[in-house]
Amino acid sequence: MESHAKTLAIVGGGPAGLMAAQVANAAGFAVDVYEAQGSVGRRFLIAGKGGLNLTHSEPRPQFDARYRERASDIAHWLDAFDADALRAWAKTLGVDTFVGSSGRVFPTDLKAAPLLRGWVRRLKEHGVRFHVHHRFTGWGDDGALRFATPTGEFFATPDATVLALGGASWPELGGNSEWVAPLRAAGIDVAELKPANCGFDVAWSEFFARKFAGAPLKPVVAHWRDAGGREHARQGECVVSAHGIEGSLVYAACADLREAIERDGSATLWLDLAPNRELARLQGDLSKPRDGRSASEFLRRQAGLEGVKAALLREALGKARMDDANAPAQTIKRLPLKLLRPRPIAEAISSAGGVRLEQLDANLMMKDKPGVFVAGEMLDWEAPTGGYLLTASFASGHVAGSGVVERLK
Ligand SMILES: Cc1cc2nc3c(=O)[nH]c(=O)nc-3n(C[C@H](O)[C@H](O)[C@H](O)COP(=O)(O)OP(=O)(O)OC[C@H]3O[C@@H](n4cnc5c(N)ncnc54)[C@H](O)[C@@H]3O)c2cc1C
Repeated sequence: MESHAKTLAIVGGGPAGLMAAQVANAAGFAVDVYEAQGSVGRRFLIAGKGGLNLTHSEPRPQFDARYRERASDIAHWLDAFDADALRAWAKTLGVDTFVGSSGRVFPTDLKAAPLLRGWVRRLKEHGVRFHVHHRFTGWGDDGALRFATPTGEFFATPDATVLALGGASWPELGGNSEWVAPLRAAGIDVAELKPANCGFDVAWSEFFARKFAGAPLKPVVAHWRDAGGREHARQGECVVSAHGIEGSLVYAACADLREAIERDGSATLWLDLAPNRELARLQGDLSKPRDGRSASEFLRRQAGLEGVKAALLREALGKARMDDANAPAQTIKRLPLKLLRPRPIAEAISSAGGVRLEQLDANLMMKDKPGVFVAGEMLDWEAPTGGYLLTASFASGHVAGSGVVERLK
């Protein structure tokens, strides 16, 4: 491999940082990865716990549209490194992938650990140096990168830097917003970090929360409105929690719901608890005589509703309106849930907000800080779960790594 004297510091050893390291290392630059935790890729490992959803098989441009107002920016990253490139990259590490029934893409063994282990091993073999327990704290007066380490402060003066510090969810995995203050102090515009792919608080009765926390609601169709008043509908699953509601269906609507709460003080999510039954049929079935059956038995027989769904209906209507002629059928088809606030960012899968893209050039280099690149979730974009988060993180790391190569060459 050709050797250049130029050095690159990667700050943050998640998918974005490691991908930037791989690209610059392959071009012959000396790469140092600085990581606050005792090992790299902890969030990637946790993402693999329930089955690593690496990317999605959805074609572009629908894929790009998942990134909402940032779709055109991220399309540019995906032009450089898209879902197919990500799957091909995993294969170079001996990890085959498959498309699940929902279109999501997983490694064959569903795990993140073999992929991460193989990747880090290969980077080390190719000369990438890893410095764990190095927490980036900002820049010194002379522009050097400052790190807090167990043995005291450490300074680095690389020829280029890629910041890939991740978002602010799950602080126990290294994700936190500590990097925001030093970046703002250096004049970098950082949009407020907010929870994304998160649950929401609902004012359940004490009985309902105690009895049904953890109960899955499936299948249901969720309806919600975006900022433009357009109604969206999506079938899937969500889960009742002690505080409110969470799960993939809620995450898909998260950005619109969070914005509605910011704007109006609360948001409404409507649930269709019986997606396979027409309203007219439900009304007919529920208006038949009860023939001495208990209310819950009647609901189970006539509407197929029991357990948490039946309890939710009772929670929404109250005892009196359960006996109303029309209310149950209508509410089963469109049960309003008042969402009070998003759950705290520490519990969210990812975070929205971050370093605003307008300050970066097409290679993700800060226009006002030549030689400093930014990649991954710490940039100001968001996406639902489904593999879109990792794909954009990897892709932005690829763009930043290529940008470093172009600059240092
Ligand atoms: C429970 C969970 C499940 C998930 N599942 C999926 C999934 O299935 N599919 C998907 O697409 N996405 C998933 N995600 C999201 C995905 O993991 C992230 O979007 C992705 O890891 C972001 O990559 P990144 O490289 O930008 O940041 P990170 O992976 O967060 O890496 C940032 C790194 O920077 C380090 N760091 C932070 N501050 C400092 C500092 N001051 N100095 C030095 N180092 C620092 C951190 O310790 C960390 O190692 C999941 C997230 C969670 C929490």
